[in-house]
Amino acid sequence: MVFQAKTIIEPFRIKSVEPIHETTAEYRDIALKEAGYNPFMLKAEDVLIDLLTDSGTGALSEQQWGAMLQGDESYAGSRSFLKLQDTIQKITGFQFVIPTHQGRASERILFTTVCEQDSIIPNNTHFDTTRANIEANRAEALDLAIDEAKHPAVIHPFKGNMDLQKLEQFFRNTPKSKIPLCMVTVTNNSGGGQPVSMGNIKAISAMCHSYGVPFFIDACRFAENAWFIKQREEGYKDKTPLQIAQEMFSYADGCTMSAKKDGMANIGGFIALNDGALAEKLRNLLILTEGFPTYGGLAGYDMEAIAVGLMEALDEDYLRYRIRSVEYLGEKLTQANIPIIQPTGGHAVYIDAGAFLSHIPQSQYPAQALCVEMYLAAGIRAVEIGSVMFGKPQPDGSEIPAALELVRLAFPRRVYTQSHVDYLIEALLYVADRAKQIRGVRFTYQAPMLRHFTAQFALI
Ligand SMILES: *Cc1c(COP(=O)(O)O)cnc(C)c1O
Repeated sequence: MVFQAKTIIEPFRIKSVEPIHETTAEYRDIALKEAGYNPFMLKAEDVLIDLLTDSGTGALSEQQWGAMLQGDESYAGSRSFLKLQDTIQKITGFQFVIPTHQGRASERILFTTVCEQDSIIPNNTHFDTTRANIEANRAEALDLAIDEAKHPAVIHPFKGNMDLQKLEQFFRNTPKSKIPLCMVTVTNNSGGGQPVSMGNIKAISAMCHSYGVPFFIDACRFAENAWFIKQREEGYKDKTPLQIAQEMFSYADGCTMSAKKDGMANIGGFIALNDGALAEKLRNLLILTEGFPTYGGLAGYDMEAIAVGLMEALDEDYLRYRIRSVEYLGEKLTQANIPIIQPTGGHAVYIDAGAFLSHIPQSQYPAQALCVEMYLAAGIRAVEIGSVMFGKPQPDGSEIPAALELVRLAFPRRVYTQSHVDYLIEALLYVADRAKQIRGVRFTYQAPMLRHFTAQFALI
């Protein structure tokens, strides 16, 4: 018999450490009051376990640090750019590579170039910066995810899929001149980090091309999506994540990317595509606002970190550990009857705070109240994805609430270990025990746009 461990371990040992500090309940009480009950306004040092985002918060590997020492900081023709370009071409097969300082810069450059007033860009679910960059160009961002995506408790292996019937209907009823491109986001961040199947990607691609519409992938979590395809879709279990990623990209005409996610870097992004004429237009805009086309707002050492990170994100041991840590947390919360979006996705667990704190009405922001409680109880920082973020204030002072009141626990890459996750589970069980005593919140200050970042609250 060979030893077959059931425990999936962190596939790394730790060479450099960053201390985190316990605080007392009294200290957190004061810190949060000073932050206006908005975790975004806390000092990071006052947080014990920070699950605000998985964006740019990961740990670099020794290979990345090593490569960074070799960064070529030449303004033009940097060796580090050529290395990054090679890696992106190998993974995506796209001919032209345009580096940017992060995902939203890629979006701004792409949509400013292709959108006209009244253009419509379909997607499974647009991420908030994607939507904002489309709307800033007076175009429309259209979400066409499958119906299952709207129901937290419904289990579906590829809950990030696009609804093909709705897409076909949209193509049939919309003049082609209004659709500069169609996108799909892998994994679907706003929909719970849910994967998109290869079958769905292939079908979207075929439909786009039969209507003459270019097809782009929002590739931020392409490696996590490849892992789900390997686990769940027939015909892929013997393929490597790299082979699966290559096939995903082979159906598309281009992609936008935030290297702060599956680029395993602290900053960076890119656009990659096959249309040379479009690439030239994008580069011209890039030069205006980001930088010369061989650095695009990045240092040479950033491009080194991304070139190495993109391949590390495709490592099977890493992906197994990453997806398992999220699934493990999801299992424990489900056993404790804490409602979450099912099944767990790639980078985060989403608690359904509307169901969990059903005694708090939507007008008193149950998901914000839960974030407040998690910090007060255990020093954990999470983010509200509910009516604070997406509620629409009306002229009469009322508000149209968000469809769901969610709290997202997003995991930085390679940062926390299983004992951190166990601590988190204990803390959430404690919060669950006293859920009925948790009170809602009300705004005391809100900015006119993207209010969640700077809002101030009071407890009700
Ligand atoms: C993070 C993200 C972006 C934007 O990238 P930034 O690097 O934060 O600007 C776009 N799309 C998706 C799906 C994302 O998760």
